[in-house]
Amino acid sequence: MSAYRCEVCEYVYDEAEGAPREGFPPGTAWSDVPDDWACPDCGVREKIDFELIGQ
Ligand SMILES: [Zn+2]
Repeated sequence: MSAYRCEVCEYVYDEAEGAPREGFPPGTAWSDVPDDWACPDCGVREKIDFELIGQ
């Protein structure tokens, strides 16, 4: 699975962990996260601005 990082605040979305408080259970693929989902920490960057940091 991959992880993606917000370029502003360094929040990391890890597909293996998901983001339960955002409504994405562990194992939720990045492709299943809506394109207009915004970073839960800074609220500034949306999904399209996150960068791939691992696999
Ligand atoms: Zn952020």
